[in-house]
Amino acid sequence: MSQDETPVVNCPTCGKSVLWNESSRYRPFCSDRCKLIDLGEWAAEEKVIQGSQLLSDRDEWSEGSSKD
Ligand SMILES: [Zn+2]
Repeated sequence: MSQDETPVVNCPTCGKSVLWNESSRYRPFCSDRCKLIDLGEWAAEEKVIQGSQLLSDRDEWSEGSSKD
């Protein structure tokens, strides 16, 4: 039953469980995104902050005006 004993690791970036097999091509990371974040954390952080500010700004405008 060795097929059922796939080791599981935790993604260093987000802590999500990652199966240690060929289907997890970015292991030990859960995704390409987490891998990139870990490799260039300072750059990724900057992008996320700038991007989310723009997005949340738009959301507040559209949702607030339609529901109020
Ligand atoms: Zn992850």
